[in-house]
Amino acid sequence: MATPIPSPNTAPALLAAPEDQQELFTTLLDGSNQAILIHDRLEPLYANPRFARLLGFETPEDVIAAGWLDELIPIQRLVRAFVVWSRVLESGQPVTLTEVKGFNRQGAEIFVDIHTRPIQWQGRTVIFSSLYDVTARSHAKRDLERAYLRYRQLAESAHDVFWDMTADGRLTNVEGGDDLGHAFSLCLGDPWLDHVPVDARDENAITALKTAFHTGRAFRTQTIPFDLGPLGRRLIEINGVPVFDEANTLIGFRGTFRDETGAEQARREGELQRNLAALGRVSGGVAHEINNLLQPILTFSRLAADRATTERDREAMQTILASARQARDIVKTVLEFARPRNASGRASGLATVPDPLAVIDREVRILATFAPEVQVSVSHTPGDHRAIIGTAAELGQIIANLVKNAFEAMEDRGRVILTTASSPDGKALALTCADSGPGMSETVRARIFEPFFTTKEFGKGTGLGLSIIYGIVRRWGGTIRCESMPGTGTRFMLILPYAET
Ligand code: ADP
Ligand code: MG
Repeated sequence: MATPIPSPNTAPALLAAPEDQQELFTTLLDGSNQAILIHDRLEPLYANPRFARLLGFETPEDVIAAGWLDELIPIQRLVRAFVVWSRVLESGQPVTLTEVKGFNRQGAEIFVDIHTRPIQWQGRTVIFSSLYDVTARSHAKRDLERAYLRYRQLAESAHDVFWDMTADGRLTNVEGGDDLGHAFSLCLGDPWLDHVPVDARDENAITALKTAFHTGRAFRTQTIPFDLGPLGRRLIEINGVPVFDEANTLIGFRGTFRDETGAEQARREGELQRNLAALGRVSGGVAHEINNLLQPILTFSRLAADRATTERDREAMQTILASARQARDIVKTVLEFARPRNASGRASGLATVPDPLAVIDREVRILATFAPEVQVSVSHTPGDHRAIIGTAAELGQIIANLVKNAFEAMEDRGRVILTTASSPDGKALALTCADSGPGMSETVRARIFEPFFTTKEFGKGTGLGLSIIYGIVRRWGGTIRCESMPGTGTRFMLILPYAET
């Protein structure tokens, strides 16, 4: 009789003659790359070489010789293991545990997936456990989790905002950066360019960014002003890298926003101070020379006008005289600007203005008569009646320049409101001068303190008023800021240190 041809699914062990089965089993179990343990609860009955190695034993015999599993498994695990084994034995169903943490003989941490099932062994039901070593995978996963946590903590502690954008430049995600992050989160879904103010566009920076977006290239430290709802206008430094998918298609960008407003302001102030000092020296010298030349022109044109025999000659002389007077006024302003200052930053000898509010009131009263159609008001807050550093003449000059600028901007029609109060830290007088004029573009606003910067027609402005104020205020140890937007008027804010704090 022919031997029946076995179906291919029949296990080889079943095909082997009974006397060969033992060897076959041993080969299978010993050669398995899974760690295998057969045990009756705590008592190990069989372990394969892989199991021995996994737990840090030399040979399987060492495992059996160790005797009891509680030597191998930490006690708290053992309790859990017992519960599992009991369940396996009672239900007869296999149980799988994943990523069980343990330690080998040498104390090294291991992670295993354990598959446990009941089997019959020498007439009793025992447990067959196969262990799969997932230590490397678990460690990789843990490292990844740590790296992610580290990134999260860095993101949360940084002042920078971490952002993601689509390939066409729409913000899809912002993280970190506290207030700045919150302000940017209100722009989610918008193209970034929507929040760049039209009146303050640095076309070079914008073109550089647009090109980077178009060509999918990384960009570094582009600084661009943004209008950010609650934070107002901020100068933002942008860094970004392109993000590609598996097929190497550009899917977006990722990078950081950093608020550079303060740093940029400090840089500009430093530049302005240096410019002021250099210009002061040069213009002072020139003005002095011109002043000397103007004296004879003024004297003799007045004389000539008096002696003129015809009306035509007198008119000509009068015109010369008027021009010379105007020139003298300009030169006076330039000399005022160029007057050597005490370099210490504060007024020499620490002169004080005992009653600055009286000076302000008096100055405003006089100025108001120049533009009867402008409503000028001054209000003081209780607690601000204290002496400040400076001189009354210079304080008067500050008020006069601010108010005159307002009059000129409003073409002598509108409102000017001056207020005084103690600064929030109580160490200085906070003075504001606001007008209902046309305001300024960002480009103008950024330059108003520059000496000789003027938007007024020739002969009307010298561009020195605000640079003089700036110089005075800095010398007193104070600050001056300007807020203005086209159509919303202009507000100057000065901090003038009290004489005694
Ligand atoms: P000037 O008045 O001689 O032009 P300033 O230094 O006083 O020089 O002012 C510089 C520029 O600042 C002005 O030309 C004007 O463009 C702008 N400016 C100053 N104050 C105001 C204001 N209140 N409203 C609008 N623009 C102003
Ligand atoms: Mg002026």
